[in-house]
This record gives sequence, C-alpha cells and structure tokens, in this order.
Amino acid sequence: MARFYVTTPIYYVNDAPHIGHAYTTVTADALARWHRLLGDETWFLTGTDEHGLKVAQSAEAAGRTPEEQAAVNSARFRETWAALDIDYDDFIRTTEPRHYAATQALLQKAHDNGFIELDSYEGPYCVACEAYYAEAELVDGNLCPIHLRPVELFKEENYFFRLSRFQDRLLDWIAVNPGAITPEAKRNEVLGFIRQGLEDVSMTRTSLSWGVPVPWAPGHVFYVWYDALINYATAIGYGTDDERFHRWWPAVHHLIGKDILRFHCVYWPAMLMAAGEDPPAHVHVHGFLLVGGEKMSKTRLNQIAPADLLPEFGVDGFRYHFLRDQQFGPDGDFSYEGMVARYNADLANNFGNLAARVATVVARACGGIGPAPSPDSVLAPVAAAVVADAGAAWGHVAPSEALDETWRLIREANAYLEANEPWKAAPGPAVDAVLGDALEVLRIVAVLASPAIPRAAAALWARLGLPGSPTDVHVPDGLAWGGYPGGLPVEKGDPLFPRLATPGS
Ligand SMILES: [Zn+2]
Repeated sequence: MARFYVTTPIYYVNDAPHIGHAYTTVTADALARWHRLLGDETWFLTGTDEHGLKVAQSAEAAGRTPEEQAAVNSARFRETWAALDIDYDDFIRTTEPRHYAATQALLQKAHDNGFIELDSYEGPYCVACEAYYAEAELVDGNLCPIHLRPVELFKEENYFFRLSRFQDRLLDWIAVNPGAITPEAKRNEVLGFIRQGLEDVSMTRTSLSWGVPVPWAPGHVFYVWYDALINYATAIGYGTDDERFHRWWPAVHHLIGKDILRFHCVYWPAMLMAAGEDPPAHVHVHGFLLVGGEKMSKTRLNQIAPADLLPEFGVDGFRYHFLRDQQFGPDGDFSYEGMVARYNADLANNFGNLAARVATVVARACGGIGPAPSPDSVLAPVAAAVVADAGAAWGHVAPSEALDETWRLIREANAYLEANEPWKAAPGPAVDAVLGDALEVLRIVAVLASPAIPRAAAALWARLGLPGSPTDVHVPDGLAWGGYPGGLPVEKGDPLFPRLATPGS
C-alpha cells in the first residue's frame, strides 16, 4: 500500500491564525483527502511551535507563564482548523513530553556523532527571527532582511551545529534527488546558498529557559528553530517507536512558505544526516500570500483572519478560493473582489447550475427518479481524461490545476445540456439519456471536488440519491464511466452555493 505523509509548518503561537496559515493548511488537508480517495495510508500532521524568546516575552507581558500563553494561543489554531474542516491526523505541540523526548534523542545522536560542539559566536541577530544573519545579508547595513528592523550584535558561548561539514553531502543529496525541492527556482535558491559556503550555527541558548533542555549540558536549551523542525520526526515516533518512524520516514511531503526555505532545505536535512537519518523526500515551497501587493504582517495591520471571510463564503467557498485561485508555488495576491468573482463563476454558476438544472428536469421529465447514463456518451471520454489529468495534478501538488480540470468536466456537461436542451423536449428515452449522462458527471465531480469542497460534495451526493458518501469511492477505478446506477430519487434542494453580490454593484 502506498503511504502519504504530509505536513504543514508548525505555526508560531505568537501569531494569530490568518489566511496565510489557512492557505498552507487547507492545501495539506486537500492533498490528504485526495490520497485517502486513492486508498493510500495517509498521515496529515499540523501543530504549533511554542518555545523561544518571543513566547516568553509575550507571556510576561500578558501576566501568564509561557506554558499558559502557549496553551491559550495554540487552542486558537485548533479552533480555526475545526472551523475550516481541516481533518488532520495529529496536532503536535512542541511543549509535549513526546517532543522533548524526540528532540533530545535526535540531537544527542548528532552530538555523539561529533556534529554539535561548544564554541563562541558573535554576530548580527534579529530578535523577531530569532536568527543570526551574515553582514552581507542585512538591508542598509543593519536591518533584518525579513523584518526590516535593526538587528542587534549578540555574542554567546553556545553549542554549535557543524553545518559547514554538510556542504558536499547536501549538494550530493540535491543532485541525486532533484525532485526533493520544488519548484525548481526554489531548489536553485537553496543550491546557491549552499555553494556560497555554509557556516556553523549556534544551536543552544543559556539566556532563556523556555525551550527543550540540552541533555548533556545543564543550563542550555535548544534554540527554538532546531527543536521546532524535529516535530516532523516526533509525530511519527522518532526516539520512541523506531519501526513506526521508519515506516513513514523519509517519504514525507513538507509544505512550506518560502520564508522558511533555508531551515527546511539546508538545516533540517543536515540535522537528520548528523543523526544518521535520511533527509526529507519532498519539500514543496509556496510563495507569500500578499494582500494588496504586500506581505501580511502584524505591524502593517493587513492580516485577514479566516473568521472574517467564513460567514459570507462558507467553509467550502473559503477552501475553494485558496486552492483554486492561489497557485501553489508563486506569490499569490489575495483580493476580496477576486474571491467573490471566483465563487460566483465556479461555484454558484457552473457547479450550482449544473446540479440544480439537472434535478429540475429530472423532476419534470422523469418523476424525480434519475435515469442511468449511456455507456457511449460523448461525455465518457471527457470524464476519463479529466479523472486522469486531475489526478496527475493532485499528484504534483497543483490543486489549482486539479480543480481547473474538474471544472472542465462541469463546463463540458453544461455545454452538452445547452446543446440538447432536455428542458424543452418531451419526456422519453432521448431526454433520459442526456440526464443520465449529466447525473454521472455530477457523481464523478462530487468525488473529484470532495478534497476541496467536502460539504457541498457530500450534499450533492445525497441529492443524487447515492448511498454513503463521495469519500467512500476508490479513485480512479470507482470513477469509471457508468457508476451512476439510475433508478435513484434525485432531490433539488436549496442552492449549494447561493450567489453573492458583486462588490460595488
Ligand atoms: Zn527578522
């Protein structure tokens, strides 16, 4: 049996959940749902990153302990994911005992192997990033390239990870596994960074206690980033259940934003190598979700929470927008107007109209009982091509393309109805054949669209009179033309996606 292990970044608990987090998480959820349709053994992991200076500082400001602060903020992510029908298999918190155990086990191994050593370091440090930068990376000589705020000169005696010793091994890894980092532009960026020469990195802190203790050095905790990355190993049993860990690892699919490329494509693979494990098989990198052409940030006050959009668009409308309109890879620009336009065109019109008009004519011409499709329908080869093409697109982490393919079948079916006008014809075998074909398209669409719009897909399934749910269908064989049996009661019901008013009209 094939296996599919997909992860989102674990989200920093100091952040409030916004549509950028939702975009990655909805994508991972849809991919997991697709792989469950394929019958793959699937594991979908998300969670929260809870250590570090910023959490300790914000806890103090709020009059809480760091534990309390982390618990309150982590819960907001779980609530958001529940509201978006995110069906994860595991939600990890880096403050859990299992994560302390895995972090200490993995880094102890790297230490035993001679890749973590005591040293001192001085350099420009961004408190917001919790990272050192090289002088050459700073903007205008003293600004963090991410936050554009002044960096501070830090000096510490700490344990250092000997990243410099992994340069050749990392280059070999990417050369042998060119598909490990996608898209290609991001792979090239990683290669460029490695070829510049890698420096050892400070991996522990003595200045704060809010972190995972270093097992061999009392008073030191691991720097938040190095404990955070290990969550992907913790959750599948690293250090506690070796058999389980190696069942899932290294065949993981990490979904990440481009701002954390270096951590996932350089540091993390090297840490795994240092501990004697293989690097991750797949890192899929997406761009920023921009709002009005700018990156969302607390300081710019342009963050949009999912809860701001759900009342109007519904869960499925929200999910569909981020999967269909934001291509996975390049930067995307969120606009409310664009979201409304897409909702109305694809969901209210194409999808909703097909479902509604077929049910209406079945009620009038067939007494509400759906006829069977014809085996040699002109739509049969279209459906077969769409199933194949949509599947290939999900397979290469291109939800936008997969949904565009799925909607191609909807458009073809609507055109077929327009050409045959069953609503004008007298009831009889000709009308039955057209409606049976359209019902079979709706059955196939309900399954293909279910990773994106699970609620509407299940509702449509029930209206077609089909037993169970679209997620019971095994893909692709269950989508072979002719699966709609006919003889089932078809229900019209209220619009699945009520049309939205266009802004400004
Ligand atoms: Zn910064």
